[in-house]
Parts: sequence; C-alpha cells; structure tokens
Amino acid sequence: MSKLSSLELFRQQAYIDGNWLDADSGSSFDVSDPATGEVIGRVPDMGRMETVRAIQAADRAFASWSRKLAKERAALLKRWFELISAATDELALLMTSEQGKPLAEARGEVAYAASFVEWFAEQAKRTNGDILPTTGGDRRLLVMRQPVGVCAAITPWNFPAAMITRKLAPALAAGCTVVVKPAEQTPFTALALAVLAEQAGIPPGVINVITGDPVAIGAELTGSPTVRKLSFTGSTEVGRLLMSQCGPTLKRLSLELGGNAPFIVFDDADIDAAVEGAMASKYRNAGQTCVCANRILVQSGVYEAFAVKLADAVAKLKVGPGVVEGVNIGPLIDSAAIDKVESHIGDALANGARVMTGGMRHSLGGTFFQPTVLADVTPAMRVAREETFGPVAPLFRFDSEDEAIAMANDTEFGLAAYFYARDVGRIFRVAEALDYGMVGVNTGVMSNEVSPFGGVKQSGIGREGSIYGIDEYLEIKSVCLGGV
Ligand code: ADP
Repeated sequence: MSKLSSLELFRQQAYIDGNWLDADSGSSFDVSDPATGEVIGRVPDMGRMETVRAIQAADRAFASWSRKLAKERAALLKRWFELISAATDELALLMTSEQGKPLAEARGEVAYAASFVEWFAEQAKRTNGDILPTTGGDRRLLVMRQPVGVCAAITPWNFPAAMITRKLAPALAAGCTVVVKPAEQTPFTALALAVLAEQAGIPPGVINVITGDPVAIGAELTGSPTVRKLSFTGSTEVGRLLMSQCGPTLKRLSLELGGNAPFIVFDDADIDAAVEGAMASKYRNAGQTCVCANRILVQSGVYEAFAVKLADAVAKLKVGPGVVEGVNIGPLIDSAAIDKVESHIGDALANGARVMTGGMRHSLGGTFFQPTVLADVTPAMRVAREETFGPVAPLFRFDSEDEAIAMANDTEFGLAAYFYARDVGRIFRVAEALDYGMVGVNTGVMSNEVSPFGGVKQSGIGREGSIYGIDEYLEIKSVCLGGV
C-alpha cells in the first residue's frame, strides 16, 4: 500500500509497554503525504482505555528506571542518540513523507533532534543535589533532586522528531517515564523513534507512544493523578485548554505555544546579512515554525532597499515536493493552513499592502503556496496580530528605536524575536527591552541544544534544552537530618 512499507523503521502500530499494538476497537486512521495528498499509511485510532494502560505501564517502569544509576540511563540515551544519527536518511524520508519539509531540512531536524538526546545523556550524570549551611550544630540540611514521575508529552506536526526528543531526552535522563501522543499528521517519525529506543535497549514502559483521538487521549493524560507532569508543544489555544485540564490534579507544566516573532532591521544593519537572516527565519519549513519571523519591521532609511533585496531572493526559492532535490519550500501541512495564509494576504491587500513577490497559490496546486513578500503592512492588519504559519513576509515600517521596540512588544506572545544592528549600545538596549524568551541578534536561526528554548507571556511556561531543561523533570526534596 505504501512506498514507505519497505523501510525498517516504518510502523503502523502504537507502542505500549514494549509491545506494538492496534487499537482495542481495531480501528485506525489515514496519514497522508501533504505533497501528493496520497495516503502513506494508517495508525491505530486509540482512546481512553489504551491511554490508561500506557500510563500504568509508565508507572510500573518508573520504579526501576528511576532507580537505575544515572550512568546507566546515560549509556542507554547515548546508544539511542547513535541509532537515531545512523538512521538519519530513513528518518528524514519518513518525516518528509508525512510532514512535507524538504529532505535537506528533514535531515537537519534529525541532527537537531539527536542533539538533545546526546546532550541529556550527558546531563543525566549532573543532577547534583546540595548540602546547605546548617541552622543548628546537631542537624544537617540536604537537597536532593529526584524525578517528577510519569510524564505526558503532546507534540505538534511541524517538527515531528525534535519536539519529541526535546521532551523525552530530559525526562528519561532525570529518571522519568513518558507517554507520548504525537500529532495525528506525523505519527510515523514518532513511532520510528520508538523503534530505535527499543533497539537501544530502553526498557518496556519507559517510552510509550499512543496514536488516536487527541481529545480522549488528552483528557486521560491530563486527568490522571498518576501523570505528574505534562509537556505540550502546540497552539496557545490548546495549551490553555490542557493547562485548565491539569488544574484539578495540579500537574507540573511545560508549555511551548504560539509566537508572533518580530524581525527588526535597523538603519545600521548589514542589509545583505539581514536579508539572509530573514530568509532563514521566515521560509524554513515553509514558514511553519513557532519561531518564524512573523512581522518584519524595517527602519525607514533602509526600508525600500531591504524590501527589493528580500523580494529578489524570495523569488528565487524553489517550490515543490520535499523529496525533490533542490526544493526550498515544500507544501503546507493541510488546506486549513493554506486558507489562513490566503486570508491574511487578502486582508492585508484590502487594507493597502502591496505584493513585492508571490501572493498566490502555487501552480503545482494542492497545498503549495508561492513564497510571498508584502510591503506597506500596518499594525491594523491581521498579519500583525496572528501567527500566519506560512511563507509570507509582511514588511512594516518604523522610524525610531523606541517605536520599533513598542511595535515588537505589542503582542500577547513572547517566544522569539530577532534584530539586525551593528551599534553595540543599541544591541544591548534592544536585546534587554524585547519582551521575549529568546532573542537572535544578527542571526535568523538560534535554536540549538545548548541554549534554553521557551517563551514568556502567552507563548508558554518553562524552558527546554540547555542546562536548565532537565529541571523541568526534577523535583527538589529538602532533607533535614537531625541528631548528628
Ligand atoms: P497545530 O495548530 O499546530 O496543529 P495543536 O495545538 O492543534 O496545534 O496541536 C498540537 C498537538 O495537540 C497535537 O498533537 C494535537 O493532536 C494535540 N491536541 C489538539 N487538541 C487537543 C486536545 N483537545 N487535547 C489534547 N491534545 C490536543
């Protein structure tokens, strides 16, 4: 049935307690290739009962996994990292087939995903506690850091591998066990990662991957008192809902939600470098990342020059199926995504914006869209308020540094921001004034396993990756030892 069926890592079953399983009901749902609309496989349509069993499996596995030596957990994670890296081509093909991104980007994502597993394999050995200065001579004060317990991870379709490893690697390193629900559009990459985890020798129940009804699975994961933490990446709307569902059991939460990233180009910027940075930040994954530049703010003195150079570069991007060599922009994930892009452009044009390049659906049809640059965009237009999540760069104009900062911060979101400038005083002032969790200065791409990833305001709670990421999966226990 599928061109993927010959791949060793291609699984059409869910993974619970070390077993590959169908849904209790026997039902399954289709997964399609967004480049062709063709069905590439089916996965089990699981619900509440299977989720309960996955949680129970994770709970049983927690007893032994959390007691393993940190060194043993580190060795298993290291092995998983090696297997993921060795399987780069196969994982990339699975990812491009279900998600659409160009193969080169898919390979890049596999490396990025693997980097979290390697990083947290190393961090597993550094969950140190403390000994505090005592308050009395007959007592000693200790701090232990211990795993939170069973964790749930709900992940989106735009980074089908990295959003999983960025949660699972620190969880496993800390000694937690996990139930993962990948996005329904991209389950095959998640299941392939589970195959590799199994091959690496990660014990049954430590990682469980369930596919199916998001509402039913989400209700069980958030409602279960056994699940002590939820880590979610996705839309702000669903993040709010899941946070409220976690209220009754007071779960720990990590939320990586929507963004509305400003990308500011000041008069003193290196304009060619700014164009290059804007291309990388805006058009990667066809504009479907939560850290994509959503609003490009350009100072009046360089506005026209920047607009022309950006439009020239964008007009050269090659659109097509991600599996075709040399393609820069794949299809959008689905028809709702393309409708949103179209409506944002329509609204901007109706209110006085001008098309510098693109602006329409691509002649390839389906969910392909022309990479677009719009000039004369104003804060009153929808593109200023909402995440477009597509290959559209709207250019806003500003005069002063203060005006740029005010425009940049005028949003309920606070994930990533970027700016290009050369004056060192300005670089510090603006970096400090931007109300965002991450700021890229003279770069359009800043995510890596070493830097903390996360947002402020309604972009989320918590940080992933980095030396801080493992803290999200550790509790602090205070031990007061008397009678010494
Ligand atoms: P996107 O708009 O990027 O698809 P979503 O927030 O809708 O973002 O989806 C992110 C993840 O959240 C996916 O795995 C999706 O299945 C899941 N999800 C969506 N709605 C719910 C829900 N009500 N309960 C639990 N998970 C959900």
